[in-house]
Amino acid sequence: MSDTGLDKALMYLKFFDVGQWIYPGLMSRKTGVEIKHIYSLLDILVDEGLLIINYESYCHICGKFDIEIYETFASIPHEHKCEHCESTLTPLDNSIVIYKVINNEL
Ligand SMILES: [Zn+2]
Repeated sequence: MSDTGLDKALMYLKFFDVGQWIYPGLMSRKTGVEIKHIYSLLDILVDEGLLIINYESYCHICGKFDIEIYETFASIPHEHKCEHCESTLTPLDNSIVIYKVINNEL
């Protein structure tokens, strides 16, 4: 990641408070930083104890997220219906990793 990319990514993170979730895809679009770099940066912050990984179900059919957020991959139901369009969602096809802020020294 270039220095400007890193600066933009770090600036973006400053807007988050403890208890809020960071969506890597959205962060990539907002900052113009490639998604793989976003994941690397966020994973470093997990190691630093600033973020934890959570999971959310994303429906590819209607393009919406479920309201429920899961603490672990194992806690996602094996098969459930999209809250918005009733499509079947499974952990493997529909889970996305999101990052919860647990320390606001970002
Ligand atoms: Zn749906």
